[in-house]
Amino acid sequence: MECTHCHGQLNRYIDGELGYVEVAELQQHLGFCPDCAAELRELSALRGTLAAWGGTALAPSPGFAERVMAGLAAEPAPGSPRPLGQVVDETLDTLDRALGHLPLPGGRRIPVKNLIGWALAVIALVEAGRRRGRREREARSW
Ligand SMILES: [Zn+2]
Repeated sequence: MECTHCHGQLNRYIDGELGYVEVAELQQHLGFCPDCAAELRELSALRGTLAAWGGTALAPSPGFAERVMAGLAAEPAPGSPRPLGQVVDETLDTLDRALGHLPLPGGRRIPVKNLIGWALAVIALVEAGRRRGRREREARSW
């Protein structure tokens, strides 16, 4: 038996899922292969530890059920419209994660979404100025 085959059989061996012939071949290999024998000891110890954890009673922290129920009550019903502020917040958070930050001198960092926001505001101001100038020129020409 090869070591790789032996390793593949160890869990089934511990679980008692191997047939007589497979057990005999595995035990023969374990008898002369210290690596696989060590692997079996480690696996058995790990399984023992996991089994002990499985018997540990776990209790939720005090007030857990009340916090879950309060959280559920605060959640909007599925399919109901979300408040605009929440949609904007989520969109900005998504943009923040996707675009990241730019490093500034002095070790500070600025979110790329803020730069885009400022650029859009500047473009809007410039465009508003152009339209206002165009309206004033048109008013003078009449
Ligand atoms: Zn081996």
